[in-house]
Amino acid sequence: MSINIILKGDKRLTQKSEEVSKFDKDLKKLSLEMIKYGQSVNNCVGLCGCQVGENKRMCVAEIDGKWNVFINPKIIYRSNTMSDEWEGCMSLKEGNLYGNVKRPSKIIVEYKDESFKRRIMQFEGFYSHLLQHEIDHMDGLMFLDRMEEPIKLLTDKDLEILYKDPK
Ligand SMILES: [Zn+2]
Repeated sequence: MSINIILKGDKRLTQKSEEVSKFDKDLKKLSLEMIKYGQSVNNCVGLCGCQVGENKRMCVAEIDGKWNVFINPKIIYRSNTMSDEWEGCMSLKEGNLYGNVKRPSKIIVEYKDESFKRRIMQFEGFYSHLLQHEIDHMDGLMFLDRMEEPIKLLTDKDLEILYKDPK
């Protein structure tokens, strides 16, 4: 099985994903392949089931250098404080188009890990955005749907310049 990323415009990205009732052999295998894919693409930090044709509430994300599997993630706390980050998506221009998105800066997520064990984790800043971005995919939303100013889009090259030469 190889990973095929579904691109924006495909209606499978706008559908709500189903809860995972059992993390079986096939899903486990798929999650490992998603992680392998993420590790092989240098601008990829997360990937959702729906982006690879598996309409299940499951994603993989790189947190502090380690790839984790999040099954049925649910946000149980959102801070009132907001933060903005430049987000990209593998389903949009191979992750090379970034949009400025505002989201709660801190969240607490309840989920099941790859052993289907219940866990609770807190995320801040970039990681808070990352998890919210992936959970949005499970509800059929992309970061573009969260942008207040849709005109604020940058390519990877623009972003490089912005950070190299901040005005
Ligand atoms: Zn995405």
